Amino acid sequence: MQVCKICQSSTSSMQDTKKMLRYYRCASCGFVFLDDEHIIDKRDEKAQYDLHHNGFENKGYVQMFEAFIDLAIEPYISNSKTALEFGSGPGPVLSKLLKKRGLEVDIYDLYYAPLKVYETKKYDLITSTEVFEHLQKPLEVLALLVKHTTKAGHIVLMTKFPPKEDKAFLAWWYRRDPTHISFFTPQSFEVMAKKLGLSVRSILNDNIVVFQKC
Ligand SMILES: [Zn+2]
Repeated sequence: MQVCKICQSSTSSMQDTKKMLRYYRCASCGFVFLDDEHIIDKRDEKAQYDLHHNGFENKGYVQMFEAFIDLAIEPYISNSKTALEFGSGPGPVLSKLLKKRGLEVDIYDLYYAPLKVYETKKYDLITSTEVFEHLQKPLEVLALLVKHTTKAGHIVLMTKFPPKEDKAFLAWWYRRDPTHISFFTPQSFEVMAKKLGLSVRSILNDNIVVFQKC
Protein backbone atom coordinates (compact mmCIF):
# COMPACT_ATOMS: atom_id res chain seq x y z
CA MET A 1 0.00 0.00 0.00
CA GLN A 2 1.39 3.39 -1.05
CA VAL A 3 0.43 6.72 0.45
CA CYS A 4 -0.14 9.75 -1.75
CA LYS A 5 3.05 11.71 -2.48
CA ILE A 6 1.10 14.95 -2.20
CA CYS A 7 -1.29 14.59 0.76
CA GLN A 8 -0.23 11.27 2.40
CA SER A 9 -3.74 9.80 2.16
CA SER A 10 -4.36 6.20 1.14
CA THR A 11 -4.39 5.19 -2.52
CA SER A 12 -5.88 2.51 -4.74
CA SER A 13 -3.78 0.81 -7.39
CA MET A 14 -4.39 0.18 -11.08
CA GLN A 15 -2.38 -1.95 -13.43
CA ASP A 16 -1.39 -1.68 -17.07
CA THR A 17 -1.31 -5.45 -17.59
CA LYS A 18 0.37 -5.24 -21.02
CA LYS A 19 3.37 -3.25 -19.88
CA MET A 20 3.23 -4.44 -16.28
CA LEU A 21 3.07 -0.90 -14.93
CA ARG A 22 1.38 -0.08 -11.64
CA TYR A 23 -0.11 3.30 -10.81
CA TYR A 24 -1.62 4.63 -7.60
CA ARG A 25 -4.55 7.03 -7.33
CA CYS A 26 -5.07 9.04 -4.15
CA ALA A 27 -8.49 8.53 -2.55
CA SER A 28 -8.43 12.08 -1.20
CA CYS A 29 -6.78 14.54 -3.63
CA GLY A 30 -6.90 12.38 -6.78
CA PHE A 31 -3.18 12.58 -7.54
CA VAL A 32 -2.03 9.65 -9.72
CA PHE A 33 1.54 8.38 -9.82
CA LEU A 34 3.55 5.57 -11.34
CA ASP A 35 5.08 3.07 -8.95
CA ASP A 36 8.67 4.22 -8.26
CA GLU A 37 9.89 0.74 -9.27
CA HIS A 38 8.80 1.36 -12.86
CA ILE A 39 10.44 4.75 -13.36
CA ILE A 40 12.91 4.59 -16.25
CA ASP A 41 16.52 5.63 -15.76
CA LYS A 42 17.92 9.04 -16.66
CA ARG A 43 19.64 7.98 -19.88
CA ASP A 44 16.46 6.46 -21.29
CA GLU A 45 14.60 9.55 -20.15
CA LYS A 46 16.94 11.86 -22.09
CA ALA A 47 16.51 9.70 -25.22
CA GLN A 48 12.74 10.03 -24.88
CA TYR A 49 12.99 13.84 -24.52
CA ASP A 50 15.14 14.08 -27.65
CA LEU A 51 12.16 12.69 -29.57
CA HIS A 52 10.13 15.80 -28.73
CA HIS A 53 12.04 18.22 -30.86
CA ASN A 54 9.81 21.26 -30.99
CA GLY A 55 11.05 24.73 -31.84
CA PHE A 56 10.10 27.87 -33.73
CA GLU A 57 9.84 25.86 -36.96
CA ASN A 58 6.75 24.20 -35.49
CA LYS A 59 4.02 26.80 -36.00
CA GLY A 60 1.37 24.98 -33.96
CA TYR A 61 3.75 24.73 -31.02
CA VAL A 62 4.47 28.47 -31.09
CA GLN A 63 0.75 29.29 -31.36
CA MET A 64 -0.01 27.02 -28.42
CA PHE A 65 2.45 28.98 -26.26
CA GLU A 66 1.12 32.35 -27.45
CA ALA A 67 -2.37 31.23 -26.39
CA PHE A 68 -0.96 29.96 -23.08
CA ILE A 69 0.65 33.35 -22.38
CA ASP A 70 -2.56 35.25 -23.25
CA LEU A 71 -4.68 33.00 -21.05
CA ALA A 72 -2.51 32.15 -18.05
CA ILE A 73 0.30 34.68 -17.82
CA GLU A 74 -0.62 38.07 -19.27
CA PRO A 75 -3.49 38.64 -16.74
CA TYR A 76 -1.06 38.22 -13.81
CA ILE A 77 2.16 39.92 -14.82
CA SER A 78 1.44 43.64 -14.88
CA ASN A 79 4.01 44.16 -12.09
CA SER A 80 6.45 41.47 -13.22
CA LYS A 81 9.91 42.21 -14.55
CA THR A 82 11.78 38.93 -14.24
CA ALA A 83 10.91 35.37 -15.15
CA LEU A 84 12.40 31.90 -14.99
CA GLU A 85 11.40 29.27 -17.53
CA PHE A 86 12.04 26.07 -15.56
CA GLY A 87 12.42 22.99 -17.77
CA SER A 88 12.81 24.96 -20.98
CA GLY A 89 13.52 21.91 -23.16
CA PRO A 90 15.61 21.60 -26.34
CA GLY A 91 14.01 24.52 -28.24
CA PRO A 92 13.31 27.28 -25.68
CA VAL A 93 10.24 28.74 -27.40
CA LEU A 94 8.32 29.98 -24.37
CA SER A 95 11.27 31.94 -22.96
CA LYS A 96 11.67 33.82 -26.24
CA LEU A 97 7.97 34.63 -26.38
CA LEU A 98 8.10 35.93 -22.78
CA LYS A 99 11.06 38.15 -23.70
CA LYS A 100 9.02 39.60 -26.55
CA ARG A 101 6.41 40.58 -23.95
CA GLY A 102 9.01 42.61 -22.08
CA LEU A 103 10.23 40.24 -19.37
CA GLU A 104 13.84 39.50 -18.49
CA VAL A 105 13.94 35.72 -18.77
CA ASP A 106 16.35 33.09 -17.45
CA ILE A 107 16.08 29.47 -18.48
CA TYR A 108 16.95 26.26 -16.73
CA ASP A 109 16.67 22.69 -17.97
CA LEU A 110 18.11 19.58 -16.35
CA TYR A 111 19.35 18.34 -19.75
CA TYR A 112 19.46 21.27 -22.17
CA ALA A 113 20.38 24.30 -20.00
CA PRO A 114 21.76 22.74 -16.81
CA LEU A 115 23.47 25.81 -15.35
CA LYS A 116 21.51 26.70 -12.19
CA VAL A 117 21.28 30.42 -12.98
CA TYR A 118 18.38 30.79 -10.54
CA GLU A 119 20.36 29.82 -7.46
CA THR A 120 21.07 33.34 -6.20
CA LYS A 121 17.93 34.95 -7.64
CA LYS A 122 14.21 35.42 -7.12
CA TYR A 123 11.72 35.88 -9.94
CA ASP A 124 8.35 37.60 -10.29
CA LEU A 125 7.17 34.78 -12.53
CA ILE A 126 8.20 31.15 -12.88
CA THR A 127 6.77 29.05 -15.70
CA SER A 128 7.11 25.30 -15.96
CA THR A 129 5.30 23.64 -18.84
CA GLU A 130 5.17 19.91 -19.47
CA VAL A 131 7.61 19.34 -16.62
CA PHE A 132 5.67 18.31 -13.52
CA GLU A 133 4.34 15.11 -15.09
CA HIS A 134 7.99 13.96 -15.26
CA LEU A 135 8.78 14.51 -11.58
CA GLN A 136 9.25 11.76 -9.04
CA LYS A 137 9.24 14.29 -6.17
CA PRO A 138 6.96 17.11 -7.28
CA LEU A 139 6.55 18.69 -3.83
CA GLU A 140 10.33 19.12 -3.52
CA VAL A 141 10.58 20.75 -6.93
CA LEU A 142 7.65 23.08 -6.31
CA ALA A 143 9.23 24.06 -2.96
CA LEU A 144 12.40 24.97 -4.87
CA LEU A 145 10.38 27.16 -7.24
CA VAL A 146 8.63 28.85 -4.30
CA LYS A 147 12.03 29.61 -2.77
CA HIS A 148 13.00 31.46 -5.95
CA THR A 149 9.75 33.41 -6.33
CA THR A 150 9.35 36.96 -5.07
CA LYS A 151 6.57 37.74 -2.57
CA ALA A 152 3.23 37.90 -4.44
CA GLY A 153 5.00 36.47 -7.50
CA HIS A 154 3.39 33.80 -9.67
CA ILE A 155 4.19 30.21 -10.57
CA VAL A 156 2.37 28.89 -13.63
CA LEU A 157 2.41 25.16 -14.40
CA MET A 158 1.11 23.35 -17.45
CA THR A 159 0.55 19.61 -17.07
CA LYS A 160 -2.48 17.52 -18.03
CA PHE A 161 -5.00 16.52 -15.37
CA PRO A 162 -5.83 12.78 -15.39
CA PRO A 163 -9.17 11.16 -16.25
CA LYS A 164 -11.16 10.27 -13.11
CA GLU A 165 -11.95 6.68 -14.13
CA ASP A 166 -9.19 4.04 -14.00
CA LYS A 167 -10.19 2.55 -17.35
CA ALA A 168 -10.05 5.95 -19.05
CA PHE A 169 -6.75 6.70 -17.35
CA LEU A 170 -5.16 3.47 -18.60
CA ALA A 171 -6.37 4.19 -22.15
CA TRP A 172 -5.17 7.82 -22.06
CA TRP A 173 -2.47 8.82 -24.61
CA TYR A 174 -0.68 11.16 -22.19
CA ARG A 175 -0.08 8.32 -19.76
CA ARG A 176 1.65 6.22 -22.43
CA ASP A 177 4.79 8.37 -22.57
CA PRO A 178 7.06 6.33 -20.26
CA THR A 179 8.56 9.52 -18.76
CA HIS A 180 5.12 10.77 -17.60
CA ILE A 181 4.89 9.57 -14.01
CA SER A 182 2.89 12.15 -12.01
CA PHE A 183 -0.62 13.40 -12.77
CA PHE A 184 -2.18 16.23 -10.80
CA THR A 185 -5.76 17.25 -10.11
CA PRO A 186 -7.02 20.70 -9.05
CA GLN A 187 -7.38 19.27 -5.51
CA SER A 188 -3.77 18.12 -5.43
CA PHE A 189 -2.68 21.64 -6.43
CA GLU A 190 -4.73 23.03 -3.52
CA VAL A 191 -2.91 20.70 -1.11
CA MET A 192 0.48 21.63 -2.57
CA ALA A 193 -0.37 25.33 -2.28
CA LYS A 194 -1.33 25.00 1.39
CA LYS A 195 1.85 23.11 2.22
CA LEU A 196 4.15 25.55 0.47
CA GLY A 197 2.74 29.01 1.21
CA LEU A 198 0.98 29.53 -2.10
CA SER A 199 -2.58 30.25 -3.11
CA VAL A 200 -4.24 28.86 -6.22
CA ARG A 201 -5.26 31.89 -8.29
CA SER A 202 -6.67 29.99 -11.21
CA ILE A 203 -7.21 26.56 -12.77
CA LEU A 204 -7.52 26.80 -16.55
CA ASN A 205 -8.73 24.22 -19.07
CA ASP A 206 -7.64 20.74 -18.01
CA ASN A 207 -3.95 21.48 -17.74
CA ILE A 208 -2.99 24.83 -16.19
CA VAL A 209 -2.61 26.07 -12.62
CA VAL A 210 -1.64 29.59 -11.61
CA PHE A 211 -0.19 29.88 -8.09
CA GLN A 212 0.63 33.06 -6.23
CA LYS A 213 3.15 33.22 -3.39
CA CYS A 214 1.51 34.44 -0.19
ZN1 LIG B 1 -3.45 12.90 -2.23
